Amino acid sequence: MPRAQRLVRTLREHKDHLASLAVTEMGKPVAEAEGEIEKSAVTAEYYARQGPGILADERVEVDGAEAWVAYEPAGLVLAVMPWNFPVWQVMRFAIPSLVAGNGVLLKHAPNVTGSALALQDLFVDAGFPEHLVTTLVIADTDVPDATARLIEDDRVAAVTLTGSNRAGAAVGAAAGRAAKKSVLELGGSDAFVVLDDAEIETAAAAAVKARFTNSGQSCVCAKRFIVAASVADAFTAAFVAGAEALRVGDPRDRQTQVGPLARDDLRAAIQRQVEESVAAGALLLTGGKPVPGDGFYYQPTVLAGTGPGMPAFDEETFGPLAAIAVARDDEDAVRLANATAYGLGLSVWTTNPGRGVALARRITSGAAFVNAIVASDPRVPFGGTKRSGHGRELAAAGIREFTNTRTYWVT
Ligand code: NDP
Repeated sequence: MPRAQRLVRTLREHKDHLASLAVTEMGKPVAEAEGEIEKSAVTAEYYARQGPGILADERVEVDGAEAWVAYEPAGLVLAVMPWNFPVWQVMRFAIPSLVAGNGVLLKHAPNVTGSALALQDLFVDAGFPEHLVTTLVIADTDVPDATARLIEDDRVAAVTLTGSNRAGAAVGAAAGRAAKKSVLELGGSDAFVVLDDAEIETAAAAAVKARFTNSGQSCVCAKRFIVAASVADAFTAAFVAGAEALRVGDPRDRQTQVGPLARDDLRAAIQRQVEESVAAGALLLTGGKPVPGDGFYYQPTVLAGTGPGMPAFDEETFGPLAAIAVARDDEDAVRLANATAYGLGLSVWTTNPGRGVALARRITSGAAFVNAIVASDPRVPFGGTKRSGHGRELAAAGIREFTNTRTYWVT
């Protein structure tokens, strides 16, 4: 059995342990933690089946020679990863990278060190050679220097980072100095565009899911809800009702839909974004406060009347905060959706999919979903444009990122 196939089984066998580590370390609701482990297993299954075909030599017709393109391993890849999906963020990169023949040095976020060490063991349990995936635990103060030195090291071929623009800029600059490949998966401020012909109840229910999944801490959570004026009142009422119905609570409880944020500073950042947006003219419709007591809980929050110039619209909001903006018409919706430094995902809602696709073509993003929530899937590439980063993960594009696309020409 190929190792990737064994990894599928090992991930499922370790599901409870990995999920409970994620819940304890960063506060994710348990059902969602299990979900990211299952998604990792599905991804391992995908690459076990499709990887060899994607990486097979490609013949090229040339006169007088035999020519082909080969996808050969890049070598050892450094992965700097965030805490929001402690298992999935690592697996999304590591599975294709290992199937392509690479080794992995994992520098995970410090609040999920238990998960990082458990993942290192998991690969050994699945039959990968010891140390092919190595977790590095680096003291907080040394991280920028230590990662820059690792990137410079001749034994490291390339680097991938998922995280903030600040971290991405540092790691991307270090890779540039060392003339090494980098893939950067940074933040997002995805638009969720509701056109005047959309099914409002369906769109509003999807919007609640798209914004509040993972307690709002995902790069591809919908963050800016751009709604056609004629349906804005109906959408807003249904969306606010949905947000208020969410069960906020203990992440160990299976009924919980929104847990605490991972750190107090992340909660303080949301509070600042709410306060400054309200001061700039946004209307607070629900939420807007930390939940008193233990844990870094924040109320599911909806702001209306937002737009460029307000932090809730201009910045990435990494928590349970939704910003609604009203669009006069499709033209205005395109303008508002593009009025961001980010360009990760886009979701358009309409009963006319052709109209949705035509609109999506005018908005810059790495992925466009029509009548569906933006989500990663191993069968399609994932990644950003603009300040959301560069390079792709998943699918054929993702596995080839860390290969040497090599030309053979034989006469
Ligand atoms: P960071 O980007 O700081 O952390 C992500 C990873 O990058 C961590 O492993 C971190 O390690 C590392 N890192 C940070 N700075 C450097 C550096 N200079 N050189 C090398 N590695 C570095 O994210 P935060 O946890 O501080 O979250 C802040 C914001 O980032 C969030 O509010 C959100 O907007 C965004 N974010 C986006 C994510 C996404 O999925 N795209 C995921 C997480 C955050 P260490 O912590 O040890 O410094």
